[in-house]
Order: sequence, then structure tokens, then C-alpha cells
Amino acid sequence: MSMTLADSITEMPVRERVAELGQRVLDGGQISRDEALELAQIENNADIMDLLAWGNRIRERFKGNKIHLCSIVNAKAGACSENCSFCAQSAAYQTESPRYGFVDPEPVAEAMSEAKANDVTAVGLVAAWRGLKEGPMLDEVCDRIREMKENGQSRPDASLGLIESQAVADRLKEAGLSCYGHNLESSRRFFPEHCTTHTFEDRLKTIQFLKNAGIKICSGGIIGMGEAREDRVDLAMQLREIDANVVPINILNPIEGTPLENQKPLPPMEILKTIAVFRFILPRKEIMIAGGRTVNLRDMQSMVFTAGASALMVGNYLTTLNQPVEKDLQMLRDLGLDPDWDNDFADQLADESCGSRCGCDDNATTA
Ligand code: SF4
Repeated sequence: MSMTLADSITEMPVRERVAELGQRVLDGGQISRDEALELAQIENNADIMDLLAWGNRIRERFKGNKIHLCSIVNAKAGACSENCSFCAQSAAYQTESPRYGFVDPEPVAEAMSEAKANDVTAVGLVAAWRGLKEGPMLDEVCDRIREMKENGQSRPDASLGLIESQAVADRLKEAGLSCYGHNLESSRRFFPEHCTTHTFEDRLKTIQFLKNAGIKICSGGIIGMGEAREDRVDLAMQLREIDANVVPINILNPIEGTPLENQKPLPPMEILKTIAVFRFILPRKEIMIAGGRTVNLRDMQSMVFTAGASALMVGNYLTTLNQPVEKDLQMLRDLGLDPDWDNDFADQLADESCGSRCGCDDNATTA
């Protein structure tokens, strides 16, 4: 029977309980949902710091000191038919977000060159629309992916919304796509609170088509939308179940004009604790900190790695700015981390790292 937080307080200090669970993960074991919830409920800052230290140890054990960097290109902006309440690109809300049609080859080639210059592993093509169906738009998307693959300066990834048939996923694979960003966004329970135009199940179905096609999965979510700690744990457990390769964690950056514009931000220690809990649940995965880190963590950004993160989205997000890439690279060097992530290294550890964009922008995932 799993121990509850109350039990752990009476039977052993939280510090020892964290160490017990941390050692189990380091030794190759797993923690249960209840145990993850125990960790997520820790309130005391000193205990949270212990938890972060274990998150860091687990990251080092399974990911070494390599940090995987990704960037994105906004391939089609705004006027999305979906109503994700965190997203500036939904047509349902009045925001300042730009609107334009599908991207030409030149900006994509520029993004590839910039990525190469900054040791960025992958460039993700991200489109704000419901999803991809067979037809001329899919042809154009596949052309762009093929061009990215031929360009060869960085890995071509994509985040193009819902996929409703196996044939579409197979076409993307044929074009040269290796990883697709498609966030679950939140727990199954909380999902209808922020989106009613499609379902959690639609997202799971998309992921299944992609996996059948042999495309790696970049899937995570957004925290700070008003969800409970339980929802965050359930999201991580679901990601463990679908065996996502890369797990982006976005932190809500409330956008004026969206239903979440007045959402109270999560305290930085709560964000760092969540990253550590994800690392405990997903010890071998690439946990990527994506949108919202600068605005929510401010001077504490570098602590994401000491909490267990192993990947970072760099460059600007879809609708908001990030800090300059040079600053991120300096931060990694100062921490003794190596942004020069390479495939050989990843393959040695486990076949579960890929270049990818995260499925999201500032909040705003993709489609
Ligand atoms: S998150 Fe994606 S699907 Fe949802 S509104 Fe924004 S662009 Fe559309």
C-alpha cells in the first residue's frame, strides 16, 4: 500500500521520504501516482530544495550534462478555429497576435541556419490551425519538411495540430519528419476547462497515428492554468503511459484578450517543484522547459536544470519574446552544462531523445 503525505510526516521526515523515492528512481524503479502526489504536496521550501536536488541527481544519472535545445518557426499564425483558452492564436479571442498564411521556404531556411549557429538540435514548424487533412495543404507542408531535411543544418520537426487519419501521419514520415509536437496540455479531467472544440481523446488519437507511423512524440502541457496539483501529476502519468520522447513543460504566460488573461501566476517554487516531480515520474525522458519560463521564473530560470530539466526551448516563442539565445547559452555554460547535444550520446542512454519543438508557444501550443 502506498504511503500518504500524512503517513510520511508521522513515520519519517519528508526529507527521508524524498530520498527514499529518489533513490528508487535512481536505481531504475518507478514511483506510483500516489507517491508522485506526495511529492507534489510538499510545501516547505527546505523540503522542496531537497526534492530539486534529487531531480538534479536523476537528470544527471539518466541524461548526463547534455542539454537539448529546440527552436520553432511559426509556419502559420493566428485565426485558429479552436478555442484553447490560453492561446493568443485562437480566432475566438481578440488578441494582438499576428495572422498570416503558410510560411514560404526562405524564413524556414533562415531559422535552420540560425539554429545551426547556436547548437540548436531541432527546428519545429508550428502551425496554428485545428489540424492537417489530406489535400494541397498537406502537400505544401510535406514540401517544407523535405526542404528542411535536405537543408540538413538542424533536425526538421513539426507541430501541426490534430491528425485524423493514419495516411496523414504516414505522409509526414515519408517527407522526413522524425518528431511531432502535440501536447496533451493538461490532465484528462481538466482538459475541458480550457478547450471545448476538441477533446483529450482527439489528442491521444493523433499521438497514436504518429506512433504507428514511427514518428517520435514531443508531448507535454501547460501549468498554471488553474489546475490542481493532482492534474499536473496525472498529466505526467499519462505522458509516461504514452511513452512521450520529449516532454515540454510550458508555464502559462497570460495573454491579454484570452479567457486566462487574469490567471494568477504560479509561484516559482511551485513551478520548480513540478519540474522535479516530472523528473521523478519520467526519469529518462527529455524534459524541456518551453514557453513562459522568462516571465514566470525571472532570475530563477537557471534552477530548472537543478530541478531536473534536460532541454530548453530557445529563441522567440510563437507570440511572445524569449531572452536572447546567447544569454541561454551562457546560462548553460555557467552551470557546467553542455548544449552540444548529439545523437550518439542520446542513443547510448536510451532511444528516447529527439529533436523537437515542444508543442507550444508561450502557452500556446500548437494546433
Ligand atoms: S493551441 Fe493550437 S489548437 Fe489551440 S487555439 Fe492555439 S493554435 Fe489553435
